[in-house]
Amino acid sequence: MNNTLYVVIPCYNEEEVVRETASRLLTKLTELQDKDMISSESKIMFVNDGSNDETWNIIKELHENNSVYTGISLSNNKGHQNALLAGLMTAMEKADMVISMDADLQDDVCVINEMVQKYHEGCDIVYGVRKNRSKDSFFKRVTANMFYKIMNWFGAKTVSNHADYRLMSKRTLEALAGYKEVNLFLRGLVPTLGFKTDVVYYERAERFAGESKYSFGKMMSFAVNGITGFSVKPIRMITWLGFLVFLGSIAILIYSFIRHFIGETIRGWTTLMVSIWAIGGLILLALGIVGEYVGKIYLETKGRPRYIIEENLEDIA
Ligand code: UDP
Ligand code: MG
Repeated sequence: MNNTLYVVIPCYNEEEVVRETASRLLTKLTELQDKDMISSESKIMFVNDGSNDETWNIIKELHENNSVYTGISLSNNKGHQNALLAGLMTAMEKADMVISMDADLQDDVCVINEMVQKYHEGCDIVYGVRKNRSKDSFFKRVTANMFYKIMNWFGAKTVSNHADYRLMSKRTLEALAGYKEVNLFLRGLVPTLGFKTDVVYYERAERFAGESKYSFGKMMSFAVNGITGFSVKPIRMITWLGFLVFLGSIAILIYSFIRHFIGETIRGWTTLMVSIWAIGGLILLALGIVGEYVGKIYLETKGRPRYIIEENLEDIA
């Protein structure tokens, strides 16, 4: 039977939660094994994303006590998306299906049954979709909603209210392996794979312990990646913006002429200052957006590895 499940969990400074997450997942895996839904080779794989706390030691200890736990450790902090990819690509070799989830137990472990069930019914990708965001902070809720609205407007396909809690079959992971981009945004990438998909709904809980590991900076770069990684609309917007500014400048030209003939030119200082600032600002904005893409091309052409695995508990076991 092809039903080995790997649960992949990226962890960055999660010493407060890994033990609890580990034990809850073990209960779940045992239950699924008893029901014959997954094989006895199924594992829980932690990806240590360059944590500087006890996270990796705890993972190693879990692995020593029970080989159902396994893990890889990245050589430094590469960010959630890269850590997740490292886990998925490593798990792919042994697993028939992989479920990815956060370490903080915000994703409801109970719906794993449903996910696996749908896999057995022939689904290749099962998205975990949260019913509401009432447990998230007001700030997170507002910014996240805004982000997904912008994403959709820019034309990137995302499953709304879906984070990275999903089941993927081996062949979809193999397809994902073909995507070589460095600016990773899995939430946007996975829906482009196609295959037979389905969704399961769950309530998103509060973080079990500790603080969010997504700093404001990380969240911003995640959002910028999501938008620029999937659409060239921002570049097109520059063209439109340039066109509008051109129209505006004609209006200002006519206006200045009229003022000139009336004989009030000195007072034009205000208009001049305003236009210098406005145009200067627009040029900078335009340059910034173009720069964003150039930067991306730069990173992509270098083709650097997206993660480096320093240790793999599977190898030493
Ligand atoms: N994470 C990671 N590397 C990072 C930041 C976060 O592997 O640089 C992991 C983190 O340990 C957690 C998941 O990504 O398992 C989601 O992070 P978090 O729960 O802090 O984000 P939030 O739920 O606040 O969006
Ligand atoms: Mg979280």
